[in-house]
Amino acid sequence: MDLRAQYLSIKEEIDKAIFEVIEDSAFIGGKYVEAFESTFAEMYGVKYCVSTANGTDSLYIIMRMLGIGLGDEVITAANSWISSSETITQAGASPVFVDISPDYFTIDVSKIEEKITNRTKAIIPVHLYGQVCDMEHVMAIANKYNLSVIEDCAQSHFSEYKGLRAGTIGTAGSFSFYPGKNLGAYGDAGCIITNDRQLAEKCRMFARHGALKKHQHKMEGINSRMDALQASILLSKLPYIDKWTEARIAHADAYNNLLARVDEITLPKVLPETKHTFHIYAILAKKRDLLSRYLAQNGIKTGIHYPTALPNLEAYAYLKHRPSDFPIATANQGRILSLPIYPELSSNEIKFVCEKVREFYEIVDK
Ligand SMILES: *Cc1c(COP(=O)(O)O)cnc(C)c1O
Repeated sequence: MDLRAQYLSIKEEIDKAIFEVIEDSAFIGGKYVEAFESTFAEMYGVKYCVSTANGTDSLYIIMRMLGIGLGDEVITAANSWISSSETITQAGASPVFVDISPDYFTIDVSKIEEKITNRTKAIIPVHLYGQVCDMEHVMAIANKYNLSVIEDCAQSHFSEYKGLRAGTIGTAGSFSFYPGKNLGAYGDAGCIITNDRQLAEKCRMFARHGALKKHQHKMEGINSRMDALQASILLSKLPYIDKWTEARIAHADAYNNLLARVDEITLPKVLPETKHTFHIYAILAKKRDLLSRYLAQNGIKTGIHYPTALPNLEAYAYLKHRPSDFPIATANQGRILSLPIYPELSSNEIKFVCEKVREFYEIVDK
């Protein structure tokens, strides 16, 4: 990605947004944060948006306010950023991992039920790379076992599932506005969306030291606030988000066309009836490490999301899983590769990347 390219494309508005906050010197709370919350809630068609300091806090706050804690289990996907599981532990509960689907990189819904016990309290489907999970199945299982569903939307701003926005289908949606996300602040920021009034109020209170009114602490909470500079920057970016999302989708299409005949790679599939917003364009590649090195030598930066599946991380050695317990997530560790994708990417740059991918396999396959 190229964060500077996006800044330069809307420099005047961003500079103005920043200077307004400094002029007003309303740095925490106040009109910019309120405006962001109401605008975001309106765009999502939900009743409540609670801003937070980051997307990790959002997940943690939701779990705590749903009463999830010691002795409880929460199910999540074996491949994600560690926030999806570390917040379960933070809340006092135990993370239970489910392998990912071979086609879509998201939680394999056919393997959720076998992991449910009488301690299971919630499922965290992670809409990884911008792809929405199979939410119909997730919700059916959640309803059958009376579980909460916390959608991790950190990588899926404005993604859709059967016409519904990701984040509006479960109990609550958790967002991150980390600079590199599809909607990024200039620092850390996040939010929670929900239609549940009680949950929204609790989350807001907990994130503000347990007080909705100054000095009236009804409980102990934490300090998790979006600052006004971030809110103002995000507000000035919101009018562009549709355009940026469409550009990502067009770039993914271009990659799909130009790479269609390269047998050594598998292109990302899109779950039917969903809008994949391509936070990440991940392919499965033979000789992945050599390919990524070849691309780097040609000035093309790639990434791996993620090099180690969550249950295989040292952090989870205590769970005593074997890599073979999560065959797809484990196999993907050695073959996933994220190609450059961001709205400002040009079609010539995409062509260049694809040429170099083809060239690599012509060389190594000889
Ligand atoms: C980025 C991310 C988070 C955490 O967001 P932060 O704002 O960085 O705390 C959570 N889940 C996933 C899947 C992410 O990609």
